[in-house]
Parts: sequence; structure tokens; C-alpha cells
Amino acid sequence: MGQSQSVFEQDQYNQYAQCTYFNQKDILRLYKRFSKLDPGRINPRIADVSTRLTFAQMQSLPELRENPFKDRICQVFSTDGHGIHFEDFLDMFSVLSSHAPWELKAAYAFRIFDYNGDAAICKADIKQIVRNLAGDSVNEDELYEIVSGVMQESDIAKTHRLTYTEFEHVISRAPDFADLFHVTI
Ligand code: MG
Repeated sequence: MGQSQSVFEQDQYNQYAQCTYFNQKDILRLYKRFSKLDPGRINPRIADVSTRLTFAQMQSLPELRENPFKDRICQVFSTDGHGIHFEDFLDMFSVLSSHAPWELKAAYAFRIFDYNGDAAICKADIKQIVRNLAGDSVNEDELYEIVSGVMQESDIAKTHRLTYTEFEHVISRAPDFADLFHVTI
């Protein structure tokens, strides 16, 4: 009975376990959840690492549904920029899991928050982050104030953009940061 439920080859489990914070049981459980998001195309009993879920399918997960950065999270974890295959899915849950160290979450958060992909958090990125977090409750003037405040306080090198080190310093003082990038599976 146990064997028929194994789905992946042992080597594959070992490889996934090495690259993530999950054991074989977690990986199998995540594969079942992955397949449930598109039961018409993904058979939960057969290993399928090529079928991609759409971002909309991914965002139906309760772990992502309420996250204001769900679009960016999907984009960053998607290997091809369009969909999420099982290995992307596994990576995403691994980074968001409680086992992933703060430093790893911070490194991904930097990519997630870097909307324009220039390897820095600039004023436009901060504006977008605040907009996502606060929605319409913040007007343009307030937005400007917040962005200027963050820059003034954290742009130590005065480059008008935050490097990774500067960014880490900002989020290390933001108590809510961890909640955005943490799910329980
Ligand atoms: Mg940027």
C-alpha cells in the first residue's frame, strides 16, 4: 500500500529534501495539494513536474489569497514567468515555511519587492510596496512622505535606492515583515 502511494522515485524525494526544508511526507502532501489545484490536468498519483498552474490557480490557495504580494510571489517563484510547476511550488512553500531562516526570506523579499527588477529597492518600488500594503487608505501626499521617510532613514550610502544590506536593515525593524512571508503547511 505504502509503495503505491510514493508518486516520486526515491532519488527524486532525496533531491527535493536536499533543496528544501521538507521531508518525504511533506513533499508528497504538497504534491497532493498541487494536483488538487488543477485536478483535470494533474493526476495526484503520477509525478508530473512539467504541468504549470496559472497564477490565478495558485492564488486560490488560502496561504496566498490574502497576501498583498501574491502576484509578485508567483512571478518570483515562477521559472518561466508565466506558470508554476511542481518544483516552483515546492520552492515557494519551502521559502515561506517556518523552517526557512529569516535571511532566506529576506533575500526573496528583496526580489519580490524589487518590482522593476533592477536589483535595488528604489523610490518607485517603495511606493508600490506601500500601495500594496495600504491600498487606497494612503493618498499621494502621504505616500510621498512615507517614501521620503524610508529613504532618509535607510539610504545610508545616499544613492537614492536601497541596496540589499540597507533593505535588510529596514525589514529587520519591521515586526510585520515575517508574517507576509510565512505560511504553515
Ligand atoms: Mg528596483
